[in-house]
Amino acid sequence: MVRKILKYGEPVLEQKAESVTDFETPELKALIADMWETMYAAKGVGLAAPQIGFSKRISVIDITVGEDETKKIVIINPEVTSTEGKQTGEEGCLSLPGFREPVTRPNKVTLQAQDESGETIELNGEELLARAFLHEIDHLNGILFINHLSALKRDIIRRKVKKLQKAGEWD
Ligand SMILES: [Zn+2]
Repeated sequence: MVRKILKYGEPVLEQKAESVTDFETPELKALIADMWETMYAAKGVGLAAPQIGFSKRISVIDITVGEDETKKIVIINPEVTSTEGKQTGEEGCLSLPGFREPVTRPNKVTLQAQDESGETIELNGEELLARAFLHEIDHLNGILFINHLSALKRDIIRRKVKKLQKAGEWD
């Protein structure tokens, strides 16, 4: 089922999400299936459970946006174990539609996570995949990409969002 993607301003987006402890349950499978459907419907490269209102440490990532089934990645309870280098590139977020800003992040990342069965996995990403991993893990810690911008840029975006909220164009 395609779920509504919550937008910046919803408290759940700025809360630390809870660890997943029960694996291979019908609820977990249904949630992950909904996350994929919702992400592809929105043509995103990643989605975190809090973005559809579930404060759980789960993210789905596919930097091919559905072009290559083998590139679908589910990370549960992920932790960054190491990073290397730097990259700066435009970043956006399905919870902040219409806003894109350059964000500097590590160029390579290694993380440890659990898969859908609860097995521990180690994953490596570089460039766009590293950016996607880090963006999605941030979501699980209540951090949005605008938290990586200067206070000035962040305030400009906040003010624009407030205007959209007042105009009823942000829900
Ligand atoms: Zn996002």
